[in-house]
Amino acid sequence: MEFFGHVIDGEEVESQDGARFDSVDPWTRQRWSEVALASRKDVEAAVASARRAFDDGPWPRMGYAERGRLLHRLADLVEANKQELGLADTRDMGKPVTQSVGNDVDRAVQNLRFFADHARLTAADTLPMDSGHHAYTRFGPAGVVAAIAPWNFPLMLETWKIAPALAWGNTVVLKPAEDTPASATLLARLAVEAGLPPGVLNVVHGYGPESAGQALTESTMIDRITFTGASSTGRTIARVAGGNLVPASLELGGKGANLVFADADLDTAVDWSIRAIFTNAGQVCLAGSRLYVQREVYDEFLARFVAAAEAMVIGDPTEPATQVGPLASQEHYKKVRGYVETIEAQGGRIRTGGLGDGWIVRPTVITDMPQDAPHWCEEIFGPLVVVAPFDTEAEGIALANDTPYGLNAMVFTENLSRAHRVSAALRAGTVWVNCFFIRDLRAPFGGVGESGVGREGGAFSREFFTEPKAVVMQIDR
Ligand code: NAD
Repeated sequence: MEFFGHVIDGEEVESQDGARFDSVDPWTRQRWSEVALASRKDVEAAVASARRAFDDGPWPRMGYAERGRLLHRLADLVEANKQELGLADTRDMGKPVTQSVGNDVDRAVQNLRFFADHARLTAADTLPMDSGHHAYTRFGPAGVVAAIAPWNFPLMLETWKIAPALAWGNTVVLKPAEDTPASATLLARLAVEAGLPPGVLNVVHGYGPESAGQALTESTMIDRITFTGASSTGRTIARVAGGNLVPASLELGGKGANLVFADADLDTAVDWSIRAIFTNAGQVCLAGSRLYVQREVYDEFLARFVAAAEAMVIGDPTEPATQVGPLASQEHYKKVRGYVETIEAQGGRIRTGGLGDGWIVRPTVITDMPQDAPHWCEEIFGPLVVVAPFDTEAEGIALANDTPYGLNAMVFTENLSRAHRVSAALRAGTVWVNCFFIRDLRAPFGGVGESGVGREGGAFSREFFTEPKAVVMQIDR
C-alpha cells in the first residue's frame, strides 16, 4: 500500500495526529493508497511555512530568470516521471492512461514552462506624463496563495494554478481533491528535487467542508484563493474570501452547449462532439453536454453520432485501448446513475448507453427530453448528452444561452460570418469553432454566471497573482 503525505516546508510528513484516509481505485474498487488526513493544525503549519517562505525566504526576491530556471527544472522532472504521475491520476480517479499519461502530464509540463517564460518576458506599462513625471507599473507577488483543486484533471489543473502563482514569486499551499491526492504529493516531491526552496510549494490533503479546504480558505494569513470546483462550493468560498477581503478566482461548473449547423462538415462535427462529451467519461467542466443540431442534418448527424458513441472502447483505464473508464468514485457514480435511471420517467429516450459494470456508465445519448428536465439544466458530470433539433440561427443561440452556466460553447459551421456572429452572441467564457478543448495559455480562461468569477491565463493570471503597483517619478524639475 503506497502512502502519500502532506508536503510542508520541504518535508513529506504525516498529520500531527497521525490520521489517514484511503484512496480507492474506481476500476478495481479496492483501496490502493493511504493518505495523510489534515486537521486544522496541519493546514495552519502549511500556511505558516508558506508565509515564512514568502516573508523571509529567497523565492519572492529571486529574479524571474532564476525562478523560471527552477520551474523549467521541475517541468523536466515532471516529463521524466510522466508514467508515474499519469498513472497516479488513473488509479485515483479512473481516467484512461491515454488521457492521463498521454495528455494531462504534457499539459502540466506546458503549464509550468509557459508561466515560467511568461513571467520573465511580459512587459509592463510605462507612462511618460505631460507634467514632467513618469509613471510605471510594477507587478509584485501577492503573497501566499491557497490553491484548491477538483478531481477531474488533478495534475493538469493543479499546475494550472501553481505555475503562474510560483512564476510571479508567490508561495503556495495546494489542497488537491480528496479523491485524487497522489499526483500532488508526487509533484511536491519533485519540486523539492528540482530545488524549490522549502515552504514555496506546500501540499495538504483532506476533505472540503469542515476540513482542510475550509481551514485553508478561512486562514487570515493567505493573500489569494484560486479555486476550481463546483458552483455551490464556489459560493461558499466567495463568502469566506469576501469576509476576509481576499481576492478569489473561481472556476466553476458548466453545461456546455454544442451547436451543429446544417452547413457544418459533419465528419468534423461528429468527431469533436464525441470527444466533447465522452472524454474523461464526461467528467469535464467544459463537456458539450447539450447538443443542438440544425433540423436539416439532425437525423444524419444523430445516426453517425450514436454509431461513434457505440464504437468507443470501455473498460480498464490502464489499458492503452480504453477510451472510457469508470466514474471517479462510488459517490459520483451513484449521482450519475440517478440521472440515467430517470431518463425515461422524465420523458427522454435512450438512443444508446446506460449503466455498465462496476462504476461504469456507457456513453449515453438521450433524445426527446423536455427542455425543462434536469438532464438539460443540471451539470451531470458524466457521459450523458441530451440532443435536440433546432431550426434557425436565432433559435440555436437562444437555446445555447438558456442556462445559468456560461463556461463554454462549441459551434460547428463552414460559414465564416456565422462563426463570428454566433461566437459573439454566445454567453460563455470560451467558444470553440469547429474544435474543442484547444487552449492557448495566453488566452483568458473562466466562466460567466454560475461558471465562475474572474479569468486566468497569460496576462489575466498576472493580474490575479500579483499586486500591481503604480510608481510615479518626477523626471524634469
Ligand atoms: P468540489 O467543489 O466538491 O470540490 C473541489 C475542491 O474543493 C476539493 O478539493 C474539495 O475538497 C474542496 N472543497 C469542497 N468544499 C469546500 C469548502 N467548503 N471549502 C474549501 N474547499 C472545499 O468539486 P469536485 O466535485 O471536486 O469537482 C467537480 C466540479 O468542478 C464540477 O462542478 C466541475 O464543473 C468543476 N470544474 C470546473 C472547472 C473549470 O475550469 N471551470 C474545471 C474542472 C472542474
